[in-house]
Amino acid sequence: MAIVRLAYISKSLLPGDPREREHVADILMSSRRNNEAAQVTGALLATDACFAHVLEVEQEVVEETYGRISCDPRHRDIVLLLTEPIAARQFPDWSMAYIGPSQPAEDAVARVTRTLSPTDDGEAARDLVAFISTMLEDCSSSDLPRDGGPKTG
Ligand code: FAD
Repeated sequence: MAIVRLAYISKSLLPGDPREREHVADILMSSRRNNEAAQVTGALLATDACFAHVLEVEQEVVEETYGRISCDPRHRDIVLLLTEPIAARQFPDWSMAYIGPSQPAEDAVARVTRTLSPTDDGEAARDLVAFISTMLEDCSSSDLPRDGGPKTG
């Protein structure tokens, strides 16, 4: 089955909401449940104002998955950074890894936003994927709400 990597950034509409943490927890809970069932893997990075999300999805469900996420009223101004076929998943053990706000996360999103241009061939997004991957390797598993996720190849 062909696997597609998709990455987007969006503006979060949660800042200022007194239930922000609960909303993030809700997003993670339903995402992990749905992604595990659909064999979607990936990682969500949050800053104080934005989300950056990398998904690894079977070709057949990529449109449905992205369409559903795009319609979510908890974020807006979604910019699709990348869709490309991949030979192997980069986040095979994560139905939805989560990296919360930090200065390095802010800097990573700012770098992507700065380098976005009509001629960008996905390099900015690939840098973001590499950053997320490094963050996950660097963080001890106790710092992150790690879950099993689908064991896909
Ligand atoms: P449930 O989780 O049972 O929710 C029921 C309905 O209520 C849904 O339509 C949901 O959109 C809506 N809803 C629930 N809580 C709120 C709320 N606080 N405010 C507004 N509407 C609400 N879903 C995935 O499956 N995989 C992902 O990888 C994924 N990534 C996401 C990333 C971001 C940044 C955001 C904001 C959302 C993401 N979602 C993801 C959630 C997705 O947009 C849908 O909400 C979710 O898939 C719906 O799941 P469900 O049908 O099981 O509904």
